[in-house]
Amino acid sequence: MTGKTETKEFQAEVKKLLDIVIHSLYTEKDIFLRELISNAADALEKFRHQKLLEKEVFDPDASLEINISVNDKEHILTVTDSGIGMTRDELEHNLGTIAHSGSKTFLSELEQNEQKNVNLIGQFGVGFYSAFMVAKKVKVQSRSYSPDAEGYQWESDGTGSFSLTPESGLHRGTKVIIELNDDAFDYANDSTIKRIIKQYSNFVSFPIKVGGETVNTVQALWTKNKDDIKAEEYSEFYKFIANAFDDPLCYLHFSADAPLAINALLFVPEDNMELMGFGRSEPGVSLYCQKVLIDQHSKNILPEWLRFLKGVVDSEDLPLNISRQALQDNALVSKLKKIITSRFLKFLKDQAKNEPEQYEKFWKTFGLYLKEGATIDYTHRADLAKLLRFESSKSESGKLISLDDYVGRMNEGQNEIYYINGPSRHAIEKGPYFEVFKRRDVEIIYTLEPIDDFVFSHLNEYEGKKLVSADRADLKLPEKTGEDAVEKETEKSEKLDEPIAQTLTKWMKDVLGESVKEVAVSTRLVDSPAMIVNPEGFFTSSMERVMRATNQEHKISSKNLEINTAHPLIKGLAEMRVADEDFAKTIVKQIYDNAMIQAGLMIEPRDMVERSYRILERAVAKKDG
Ligand code: ADP
Ligand code: MG
Repeated sequence: MTGKTETKEFQAEVKKLLDIVIHSLYTEKDIFLRELISNAADALEKFRHQKLLEKEVFDPDASLEINISVNDKEHILTVTDSGIGMTRDELEHNLGTIAHSGSKTFLSELEQNEQKNVNLIGQFGVGFYSAFMVAKKVKVQSRSYSPDAEGYQWESDGTGSFSLTPESGLHRGTKVIIELNDDAFDYANDSTIKRIIKQYSNFVSFPIKVGGETVNTVQALWTKNKDDIKAEEYSEFYKFIANAFDDPLCYLHFSADAPLAINALLFVPEDNMELMGFGRSEPGVSLYCQKVLIDQHSKNILPEWLRFLKGVVDSEDLPLNISRQALQDNALVSKLKKIITSRFLKFLKDQAKNEPEQYEKFWKTFGLYLKEGATIDYTHRADLAKLLRFESSKSESGKLISLDDYVGRMNEGQNEIYYINGPSRHAIEKGPYFEVFKRRDVEIIYTLEPIDDFVFSHLNEYEGKKLVSADRADLKLPEKTGEDAVEKETEKSEKLDEPIAQTLTKWMKDVLGESVKEVAVSTRLVDSPAMIVNPEGFFTSSMERVMRATNQEHKISSKNLEINTAHPLIKGLAEMRVADEDFAKTIVKQIYDNAMIQAGLMIEPRDMVERSYRILERAVAKKDG
């Protein structure tokens, strides 16, 4: 077979990546070997599974292993696997482009960051290119498992292009041949290679042989008995499967025989990569059947909101020859998913009870995912609700409470759970919505994240208690007895007379027109002159704010304005309406805008600023006169 060589340009992102890899990554070069071994192991796993699905494969008897050989005279390192291999097109696509969505973020992080955290390279689907940290030239010879494929050699010096040439006589799998850089000759040394394998690749589930001798401990940790596994082994295994460098925050190792036979090992990482700006995480848990990988980083085995978990789920009850496509609608897989999710939530519940500090740490890093689950996952909503944590008017600043804590100390006669959204504890406590809760000594939850009101509106209730936003128009707090009754009397005497208040609200509604639905006399304002509230069945102000931020088309619905007829400003306004109606109208608009701002809603700043200057002008003029 005489094959012609074709030369191809790398995709622009690959060029950029290679440029950084070659010219500015000088530390932690060792990890290139981890990446090549991990690719070889992936290819072997894929083959093992594929073999169960296909009638015929190429080289069926080649033993499943990784062979590493060195030539210290010519400074060449070779990593060979008998895995699934690549066709010509796969070589071109897999080793010429970057497919993974997070890798662009990774690239810009690499570019900007001084210390260049190359450790993350494997997590972003660009691990192969790390070979160029140590290579002058890389050749990849590959023969796909598919019986009628042809063998090809891919070759590049990592600058701008690569070449593809047909190559006959190859075995199934892939051979990566690295011509080492002058400063990387040490990698053509057996003992260096063995040390790196022990450090990073000990858990690869195929033998890794160096000079014919197996170096790693081949084992499926998740099938071993918990009592026989040391903490370090868990930690090492986590680093291996997650391509991570840190220790896990916590982990769950769980085995069951009924209703399904399951061995699962789930790790919570130390950091939340999404919060760090790395884009949406891909699922990190792989599905096995009797130690055979069925679906790597499976989308089917856990709900999406658990995508931050890393680990392995193995179930003997799955048919070994199930195809990846069939997993999606497989009843057994959904059952497995439900069991494992419930088990993980129980793990968190126990942790919250027994190691509250540890749980709080988890919550601060990953709580957002549980909230996401609570809004979209009906199956686990009740369990998720128990795990939610918030600040409240009865928690110390920065300390968190659960809904159970809240329900456990609800006032007599209270049968609703109250919450209010705001940017901070301080802002909420200074705002109008908080006043009545303080006066009546009713606990109120502070929802400080934009997603929170969606969570509560989806939950709707907890333990039979309705969840009610304090910016609801029809809020009815339980009355206080005793001294509060006296307080109410004095309040009453200071208020505007009923008929005057009636005329005032009607007139204010006329002034504000369509921008408000209703102007009403408040029964709950204490110190503030006015506030915005939402009629029943409407979104909370916070939800509207979020919808507006994500969709400019979203129209904020008309709100109700409640006024405090005991407040000097409102009383003065009632008088001014008669004496100087024009200016009184200006004041009304300003009161409305201020209330909207306190509700966290957008207003037109230009009109508002111009108007407030007119008001200030009058205030200054009065002083003069
Ligand atoms: P990732 O492994 O995260 O996908 P890499 O940059 O390490 O990213 O590899 C890119 C792709 O190249 C792999 O997804 C795989 O399809 C292919 N590949 C790399 N090495 C091998 C190999 N030894 N055998 C088969 N395919 C491989
Ligand atoms: Mg890889």
